[in-house]
Amino acid sequence: MSTGCLYLCATPIGNREDISARVLRVLEEADLIAAEDTRHSRGLLQYYGIDTPLISYHEHNKYERAQELISRLLKGEKIALISDAGTPVISDPGEVLVQKARECGIPVTSLPGPCALITALSLSGIPARRFVFEGFLPQENKERREVLQSLKQEGRTIILYEAPHRLRKTLGELRDALGADRSLCLCRELTKIHEEALTFTLEEAIAYYGEREPRGEYVLVLAGKSKEAGEAERKNAWGTQSPEEHLKAYMGRGLDKKAAMKAMAADFGLSRNEIYKQLLNS
Ligand code: SAM
Repeated sequence: MSTGCLYLCATPIGNREDISARVLRVLEEADLIAAEDTRHSRGLLQYYGIDTPLISYHEHNKYERAQELISRLLKGEKIALISDAGTPVISDPGEVLVQKARECGIPVTSLPGPCALITALSLSGIPARRFVFEGFLPQENKERREVLQSLKQEGRTIILYEAPHRLRKTLGELRDALGADRSLCLCRELTKIHEEALTFTLEEAIAYYGEREPRGEYVLVLAGKSKEAGEAERKNAWGTQSPEEHLKAYMGRGLDKKAAMKAMAADFGLSRNEIYKQLLNS
């Protein structure tokens, strides 16, 4: 018996016309469509006249349901996976199923299409050559602080997803971590009638949403830390003493040169290589 195939199908993030001819054909021909929310997806499928059977596959049944889907795939069925919007797996269910399918040697293929982060990045005007995608910031405080801390030195463009009711809190925390002057493009309701992409500093964005209610779904595209900001911060970190003077002070506490440089690196949040370079230039 031949093995089936798992098709990861990207669906619209707003505008129903944003769906590829190939996705429509695969959804039509599949034996089964696994959908994050079957009620939600039925609307899209009806719009395109597709009546392939649906089964739910979401965050809360992702392990048990994956087993069931894998058995069906091993029997030769063709299964399409879709989420409520955009590309499955990207801040959406699917990862567990894909991993299991690959472990079982089941062919997996991805049919590209809409993805909110790529749509936002491409229209943001923020440098797009190098970027990091953080999805939604963790809700748990400690984890959230750690992620925000890790973003402080990030030089690449940073992309986040956010729900409207958490937007203000997130903007405030980003300002505290990255600075009030950091620029960002706030993209909302992409591909929909009220699509908006506004460029602000974090301070301006906070003021803007101080006066109006956040509405719709958001992608935040933040500029990475500039080289100049990093340089200025490093200079400030040394205070009134030169790196050489700091080194002497560390060695005065009984550390040898290597240990003193290691301690400086930890205290100033720099790599040992950077400390070495700064000492050469001081
Ligand atoms: N899998 C999706 C993708 O490929 O982009 C992301 C799903 S995630 C659960 C939903 C989040 O994506 C929203 O909270 C929002 O941050 C972002 N998003 C989805 N559609 C959007 C849209 N039309 N405009 C702006 N952001 C959107």
